[in-house]
Amino acid sequence: MSRSELDKNEIDGLHWMMDMLTNVDVGLVVLDSAYCIQMWNRFMHDHSGKSDLQVKGMSIFDVFPEVPEAWFKHKIDSVFLLKSRAFSTWEQRPYLFRFKNYRPITGTEDTMYQNATMIPLMSSDGDVNHVCLLIYDVTDVATSKKELTRLNSELESLSRTDRLTQLYNRGFWEESFQGEFDRCMRYKHVSSALIFDIDHFKSVNDTFGHQAGDEVIRQTAKTLKDMVRKSDIPGRYGGEEFVVFLPNTPADNALIFAERLRKRIEALKVSYEGKPIPFTVSIGICEFSEKMPSHEKWIEMADQALYQSKEGGRNQTNIKQYS
Ligand code: GH3
Ligand code: MG
Ligand code: MG
Repeated sequence: MSRSELDKNEIDGLHWMMDMLTNVDVGLVVLDSAYCIQMWNRFMHDHSGKSDLQVKGMSIFDVFPEVPEAWFKHKIDSVFLLKSRAFSTWEQRPYLFRFKNYRPITGTEDTMYQNATMIPLMSSDGDVNHVCLLIYDVTDVATSKKELTRLNSELESLSRTDRLTQLYNRGFWEESFQGEFDRCMRYKHVSSALIFDIDHFKSVNDTFGHQAGDEVIRQTAKTLKDMVRKSDIPGRYGGEEFVVFLPNTPADNALIFAERLRKRIEALKVSYEGKPIPFTVSIGICEFSEKMPSHEKWIEMADQALYQSKEGGRNQTNIKQYS
């Protein structure tokens, strides 16, 4: 191969390299030590709407006012000083430059998410006088990750709530209740547990049908939700059994709440296909005692109070004290 052929190959190679850098789907920006733009590629041109001739010599902060100056300078200065790379990910900072997102499949996001790498550019004398910024469009990754996080939290809330009533289900309620029991033990809080059960619910189902039964459960749950305080923890314990943890509430105060709830439920006008469905609930209450061995014992005591209410003729509240 002759000398001129060699030169031609090298020049061709250089041209190809330039072509590739111009057209690659990654943003390339060269900055000098005063944070002024020396050149950028087509990706940057297309997304910013400015050619590299238009921005040559301009401060990056004038072209992109959204770039946080102190943070960015700190990053770039460290690249100059240490002659090593620096990074910024979309999770730390969603984007460096505010570019519109044009990706069709991730059309839900307005702005392009970006990862950025800053690399030192060595001159022939070994000094680093320039830094190259590489900007990666990671909108697809960011969108799927965010969607996954959203779905996970939805799934978590689904797994703790009951479908029919949107109250906490038994598993989650018991978990919370156990935590509250531990807290009561530690801080000697006087709290109460309340449990109630719809009276003669079988006959509601038998007389009006299962759908009507479901509606009664739904309305009961709604009444309960409307009546509790923010700090109370209501839940669906079983088919037509409900529970409430009442923090910082002694039994006599819990009784006032229970009686209000019982009367409100008794007064509910639930109807199915035009026919009114009268129904009542029986309630049991138990106040916390330090002598209780476990949270299971606590709810069992409240259940015994409920049983007393059933035995006593239903549609009433009873309190059971642990001793
Ligand atoms: P008591 O006054 O003694 O509580 O009588 P009861 O008829 O309510 O007795 P029990 O608690 O034994 O009956 C509960 C019934 O609730 C039995 C079951 O078929 C029904 N049930 C449980 N879950 C649901 C539900 O989600 N929807 C409907 N419609 N019925 C349910
Ligand atoms: Mg029952
Ligand atoms: Mg019942």
